[in-house]
Amino acid sequence: MIHILITSGPTRQYLDPVRYLTNASSGRMGAALAEVALELGHAVTVISGPVTIEYPTAAQVVEVDTTDDMLAAVLEHFPRHDGLIGAAAPCDYMPRRVRSEKIAKDGQPLMLELVETVDIVATAAQRKRADQWVVGFALETEDQRFRAIVKMQRKCCDLMVSNGPSAINAMDNDVEIIAADGTTLAVVSGSKRIVAQAILHAAEPLFRKS
Ligand code: C5P
Repeated sequence: MIHILITSGPTRQYLDPVRYLTNASSGRMGAALAEVALELGHAVTVISGPVTIEYPTAAQVVEVDTTDDMLAAVLEHFPRHDGLIGAAAPCDYMPRRVRSEKIAKDGQPLMLELVETVDIVATAAQRKRADQWVVGFALETEDQRFRAIVKMQRKCCDLMVSNGPSAINAMDNDVEIIAADGTTLAVVSGSKRIVAQAILHAAEPLFRKS
């Protein structure tokens, strides 16, 4: 049995105590990966941002809110896992300044200066041991394959799942699974469960590192 850590869903970055930036990730891809991994006999921990879907009861679920919370949870749990699958869509920008009180409307445009949040998958992958592996996702609207390979190298991932914006908040997904050497291992269209099965099948050689 191997131990798989899965990030899932969106995260939030607050402007003030009530308003936040986020994205439309549903967590369905993460839930499908958890389900299939459990069926294959693996142990699963899911670190999830706020979602309305439910994860399998056999998975250990850690609920987080912001990208920083997700990063902290991943760094805490990753050492006890064989691999990480980064299926979350963390909010990747945050306001440079977070107001401690609710911003009052004054009829004027509100200017926000945004800075990038820390990349969770890249940070975890930089710290991975020789016996650990990391699978990343790349969601691109243009040059999907090329950008996914660049991202895989930049983020030190062992496998990359390239998908388009149609994946967001959808029941189905169209993906290309790309190995570390740039070869395409599979092109899959279908339910997120079918896609999850293909991803775990493609990742199987990595499990032997553990
Ligand atoms: O750079 P981009 O957000 O497209 O990369 C997608 C991959 O990186 C996904 O695996 C996603 O979970 C991960 N990611 C992350 N932390 C971020 C942004 C993205 O782990 N702040």
